[in-house]
Amino acid sequence: MVDAADLLEFQRHLAEAHHIAITSHRSPDADAVGTSLALARYLRSTGKEVTCILPDAPDEALDWMHGVADIVLFDRDPGAAQEALHRADVLFALDYNGLNRLGPMADAARAATGTWLMVDHHMGPEDFPTAMVHDARCSSTAELLYGVIAGLGGREAVDAEGAALLYAGMMTDTGSFRFRSVSSETHRVIAEMMDRGLDHTAVHEAIFGEQPMDRMKLHAFAVVERMEVYPEFQTAFVHLTAEDMERFNYRAGYTEGLVNKALGVAGVKVAVFAKQSSDRVKMSFRSVGNYSVRDFAEKHFDGGGHHNAAGGASNESIGVVMARLRGLLPEIAAGLAATEQENT
Ligand code: 5GP
Ligand code: MN
Repeated sequence: MVDAADLLEFQRHLAEAHHIAITSHRSPDADAVGTSLALARYLRSTGKEVTCILPDAPDEALDWMHGVADIVLFDRDPGAAQEALHRADVLFALDYNGLNRLGPMADAARAATGTWLMVDHHMGPEDFPTAMVHDARCSSTAELLYGVIAGLGGREAVDAEGAALLYAGMMTDTGSFRFRSVSSETHRVIAEMMDRGLDHTAVHEAIFGEQPMDRMKLHAFAVVERMEVYPEFQTAFVHLTAEDMERFNYRAGYTEGLVNKALGVAGVKVAVFAKQSSDRVKMSFRSVGNYSVRDFAEKHFDGGGHHNAAGGASNESIGVVMARLRGLLPEIAAGLAATEQENT
């Protein structure tokens, strides 16, 4: 839900702004990119000059998003990114709430002198923004942002194209509308967008409709060769080495959804996916039920996110990370047992 006082603050800062920078997190997903582009569309319709800046490139599965090619990527063009951050009187942080989520772009963001506004749905926001619309119960930043745009009087600016951008974030962050976080408000937002021309089938097709053969093979390989299931701990791990990813011509987005394959194994309540990337091991954590993978990610891997879906990273090698995870199995099992007790 969007608070009226927060909206008023946004309105006040936006009224005086000429140059606006919109930022989102590293390895940007559909919620990050869709909200950035949808907010840019709305703000431009009110006469603002807007630049979208991301730490690195989105998944190719988002190439269809209108305006994606114009996003400034910090890792490809740090000069242009720094200049846009520097020039902005207002900077938006969308779909993240800690500057370390920007990775190597964090220092450039910290150096910006404009006013930070945040729209986010992850737990535990940092206090760098001057004003924020924050709701950890909301299923996506896209749903929250719709409330912000509508509250600012921009409902009409969410045309069929803008709606497709927001719907992509809502659909992917809710596991295609099956997670508990989905509310009647989620569907009310979609109903309004459908009335304004949203083609939901086209968005689903664009994101999930087809995939490169290499990606399919990478998933099959990961499940057959790299999945470890520990029934006694109700936990499963999947990992990929740098060589594994090279073998299947890895591209951004190829490993999306792998962690859910581990979580989908009968009896598994906690799943971890770990992959070696150029400078670190990145992890995805998922759980079903009361066990908080957010707490686990924060405690052991400097991470965060949501109760049932979180992420983290490590500078150790993939071998060391996997050994550490195996060593943590009893702790996970004890945590699962404790949350089961809470239920009875
Ligand atoms: P995913 O596994 O899909 O990349 O991320 C799951 C959730 O955890 C998302 O909501 C994402 O924003 C959050 N998340 C992923 N990686 C990190 C991280 O390194 N730090 C924090 N604080 N959150 C993360
Ligand atoms: Mn999100």
